Amino acid sequence: MQDPLNIQENVSLKQYTTFRVGGAARFFTDISGADSLKLAIRFAQERQLPYFILGRGSNVVFSDAGFDGLVIRIVSKSSFHFSENSCEVFAGSSLSALARESIHRGLSGIHLLSGIPGTTGGAVYMNAGAYGQEIADCIREVRSFDPETETTVSRSREECEFGYRRSVFQKNKEIILSAILEFQNGDPEVLKEEAAKVMKERKEKQPLEFPNAGSAFKRPAAGFPGALIEAAGLKGFTVGGAQVSEKHANFIINTGNASAQDIYDLSEQIIQKVRAHSGITLEREIIFTGKF
Ligand SMILES: Cc1cc2nc3c(=O)[nH]c(=O)nc-3n(C[C@H](O)[C@H](O)[C@H](O)COP(=O)(O)OP(=O)(O)OC[C@H]3O[C@@H](n4cnc5c(N)ncnc54)[C@H](O)[C@@H]3O)c2cc1C
Repeated sequence: MQDPLNIQENVSLKQYTTFRVGGAARFFTDISGADSLKLAIRFAQERQLPYFILGRGSNVVFSDAGFDGLVIRIVSKSSFHFSENSCEVFAGSSLSALARESIHRGLSGIHLLSGIPGTTGGAVYMNAGAYGQEIADCIREVRSFDPETETTVSRSREECEFGYRRSVFQKNKEIILSAILEFQNGDPEVLKEEAAKVMKERKEKQPLEFPNAGSAFKRPAAGFPGALIEAAGLKGFTVGGAQVSEKHANFIINTGNASAQDIYDLSEQIIQKVRAHSGITLEREIIFTGKF
C-alpha cells in the first residue's frame, strides 16, 4: 500500500526557509488536513522523535545540523471561502494571497499585511502584523488540532490570547488548521492604494534583495530595535555570511553563503552590544530551531 503520508528522508531545509540556510530534516512531509496531520504526529511519536510544524519558513532558522525528527509542512492551496464579510481560510494558504483577495472584494482589515510572505497558519501563530494591522484584529475563530487528545478545537479570538507577536498556540502546541476572519467594508480602490503604498515602502526600506526572515527582533517596551541596533554602531556588522542590513538595521541578511550558525551568532552579538550600549535587552522574533 502506498504511504499516504509520503514521508521523505534527509530533506534539505534550505529550500523551505526564506533565509535559505539550515541542515536536513531526518523526515519531512507535507500535510493539508487533520487526518494526515494525525498520522504524521503518530509517525513521530512511534519513533519517539520530535516534530516541528512549518509554514512558509519565513520566520524560522533551522540549525546547520538540521532537525533530527519530523518536519511537518502545512500546505493547502490558497482557496478561500468568502461569505459576505467573513472568510474561512486554511492554515497553509498564503497570507499575501488572502490579503489581495480581500482587497479585490472591498474588505478591509488585513490589506496592509500583503507583503508578509508566510502562511495564514504561521500568521495566526505569530500574530503577524504591520503598519498598524495585526491578523488578530480580524480573527473570529481559529480551528486547531490538539495532538494530545487527537481532537479539533475551536477557539474564539479571546481564547487565542493574542498579543504583540503572541498567541496561545505558542504555549499549547496545538496546530492551527483553519481560521475564520471577519472584515469591515471598504472601497477596493482605496484599499488597493493603501496596500500599494506600504508595498512601495517595504521595497524602499527593507533588504528584500537578500534572503532574510523579516524583523530579527521584537519591539521592546521603549524604542525600536532598528534604531537601537544602529545606535550601537552595528549597521553592516557581519558574522561570516550574515550581516546587519545597511538598509534596515532590524534585518539580518544572508549575503550569500551564511550558515544558520552565522545568523544565530550575529543575533547574539547584537543582543549583547545593544544591551551594553543602551541597557535594553532585545528579544528575538526569528525562531531558531535545533542546536545553536
Ligand atoms: C521579507 C519579510 C517580511 C516580513 N514582514 C513581516 C511583517 O511585516 N510582520 C510580521 O509580523 N512578520 C513579518 N515577517 C515574518 C513572517 O513572514 C511572519 O512571522 C509569518 O507570519 C510567518 O509565517 P510562516 O508560514 O512563514 O511561518 P513559519 O516561519 O514557517 O513558522 C513560524 C512559527 O509558526 C509556527 N507555525 C506555522 N504554521 C503553523 C500552524 N499551522 N500551526 C501551528 N504553528 C504553526 C511554526 O512552528 C513556527 O514556530 C516577514 C518575513 C519576511 C521574510
